[in-house]
Amino acid sequence: MEWFEKPVRMMRWDYMGEFERLKEVDLEQWAKEKKERWHVNCEWIIGTPGVAPGTGHLTTFAAEGFERYPGFEDFDLLREYLPHAKKYGIKLLVYLNMHWYSYEFAERHPDWEQRTSSGESYGRLHPLYGNGTTFCVNSPWREWAFNLIRETMKSGVDGVFLDGPVVYPDCCYCEYCQEKFEKLHGKPIPKENWLEESWKDFLEFREDSMAEFLRDARRSLKEVNPKGVIFLNSGGWQASSWRVARDIQKVGNYQDFNGAEAFFHVHRGEHNLYESALMAKYLVAGGKPAVVFTHYMYGLWHYNLLPPWEIKRALVQTVACGANPWIAFINKAYESDPGGLKPIEEIQGFLEENEEYYTSVRSEATVAVHSSMQTSTFYISDIPELYRDVGTGKEQDLIVDRGTGKVAIDWGVRKRMSEASKGESFLGFSVALWRGHIPFDVILDRDLERPDRLKHYETLILPNSACLSDRQVDAITNFVKDGGKVVASFETGLYDERGRKRNPKTLDDVLGVADRVGAFPTLLGENYMKVVEDYPPFAEGRLLPRGPYCLKIKAVEEAETPLVFMEPIPRVYMPLTKESEYPALVLSKFGGGSAAYFPQLIGLFYANYKMEEMGTLINQTVKRLNTATPLHVEAPPTVQVEVYSQGASKERVIIHLVNNSGDMKRPISHMLPVENIKIKVGEYLISPRKVYTLRESKDRLEFHKIDGGVEFKIPRLNFYEVVVLEA
Ligand SMILES: [Zn+2]
Repeated sequence: MEWFEKPVRMMRWDYMGEFERLKEVDLEQWAKEKKERWHVNCEWIIGTPGVAPGTGHLTTFAAEGFERYPGFEDFDLLREYLPHAKKYGIKLLVYLNMHWYSYEFAERHPDWEQRTSSGESYGRLHPLYGNGTTFCVNSPWREWAFNLIRETMKSGVDGVFLDGPVVYPDCCYCEYCQEKFEKLHGKPIPKENWLEESWKDFLEFREDSMAEFLRDARRSLKEVNPKGVIFLNSGGWQASSWRVARDIQKVGNYQDFNGAEAFFHVHRGEHNLYESALMAKYLVAGGKPAVVFTHYMYGLWHYNLLPPWEIKRALVQTVACGANPWIAFINKAYESDPGGLKPIEEIQGFLEENEEYYTSVRSEATVAVHSSMQTSTFYISDIPELYRDVGTGKEQDLIVDRGTGKVAIDWGVRKRMSEASKGESFLGFSVALWRGHIPFDVILDRDLERPDRLKHYETLILPNSACLSDRQVDAITNFVKDGGKVVASFETGLYDERGRKRNPKTLDDVLGVADRVGAFPTLLGENYMKVVEDYPPFAEGRLLPRGPYCLKIKAVEEAETPLVFMEPIPRVYMPLTKESEYPALVLSKFGGGSAAYFPQLIGLFYANYKMEEMGTLINQTVKRLNTATPLHVEAPPTVQVEVYSQGASKERVIIHLVNNSGDMKRPISHMLPVENIKIKVGEYLISPRKVYTLRESKDRLEFHKIDGGVEFKIPRLNFYEVVVLEA
């Protein structure tokens, strides 16, 4: 195994704005501290700083043909530090800022800048971080960048991390992009127009240009050191990633890690409790070693470290979901708060000591949740009701905010709402599974077409995966025919991979949909579903809230429809209506498998409004379909469970338990311990001879055989425990 395929713990210790102080640092001590106290085995060191006014062209080391960063004219940071890092077994990667340059430097190369559709420099229209500009991956800047990478590798370091480039929104229309696009497609680059196929060609062109840049950057790096590693900031699961042309399915082919940021930002709104976990799962789905970047900084207050529970939560969620941790902080923040080392020592020390339990593990999740980049990029729903402004639903001072009630016609607004309906649905389904203790993986577009990947799962979840190719529809159809289960919602499968309305080949046969009639009026609040046949834990007659976006469909005759929508109620405090003829859940059989279909944006509704009935409805439906659940866990919903195996015949099963039970706010300042967690493990997974825990109590656990497996108890979980079962 190469070093980067084993567990890696990365850090960046930053001297923001006072890099020259590094010349006075005892580099030997500095490396020793990182190894022995921060427990890292891979470090990033700044090669070209990302600081105002844009210094991506200035190096902290000797690089032929490049200017030095002020203060480093007679000091080569890389070559000075490398021997010390090596001595302590720390792999050294060089951070190269590849997206932020001063106007002064750009003036020397006016044709390198990214240009918007109006022909103006992107960085003059939108100064980066308030000052500075950015270059184009298709301009001659690329050769400049490749030279810099070669010069960096000549210092003997282990690799580079490229912070950027990205293709910025409404970019790039520079002369080089124009020429390249026209050569490929025989026409000029169009302006944004979602009815125009060449606009979609352009969106793909942007992503391909990024991937080609990385491919050639990698080639340059390997010229100097064939064993060197390279990767860039490759963007996450969020549905807006397409705006800066980032997709791990494309750049992942040319990099050694898939890495993306899950920074904790303090802001006025609500926070996603699972941000590090979800980013980790998404990156792991890319099939490369994954790294989740965590700023050890207090959101926009960069000179404060995160509170202990927040940094510990980020690290533990990251590793429990199969990714590597990375932290960065500014020296002055640590100087002012040396206690900030303690939570890191605690978690990373444990990870270092127990590397073997994180090496070559395979997920034993039997459920996969689809994260559809195609849908993020190309989906614009043709249902006008999706674009109705319903306000926040807040009632205050005897006034309810119900929005304007108008339907937006602006394409930009429609695009944003459509992509949100995909992104929030993905989030909602994921959170529901976590809270229902159903282990899951994320699956990407391209893997839907790979039968060997799909076969790994019993259940596939398509949370409004609106845009699917014919091949993907066929693959999913065959998956269900062969006994697989599928859970889908809203407009899944109604558009092709380029967002064109598909007819007649859809997934509707598989989903038990006979006819699509239209949409319910978009109403927030006072509208309901009714349980018409017992659907545990909901008894017949039970009313459940329904979200704003619901479709009128007819189910095939053989299908079960245990929930129906009620007729719409136009305003609040009005009499309850009767049942409509339209189902709110369709359960059907198809071939040897089965499907559950929610004709509504139930994932989005749960993600945004968090009513637990919705989470329960989702995870109970998954449990009903998915028979091969690897384990059953009795614990509060905030206890997160992940399960892996090791060895050719699963000699070891490893269960991660993360307690996310904080003090009902973020940033979290207190974690509440949980007691008496009961876990049942199916015998198809393992028949253990020995069960033990690694962290909070280093004990053997008593277990006993039950019908179909074994059962054991964790008397107390403070925060993070790893349970190991050995055959
Ligand atoms: Zn360009």
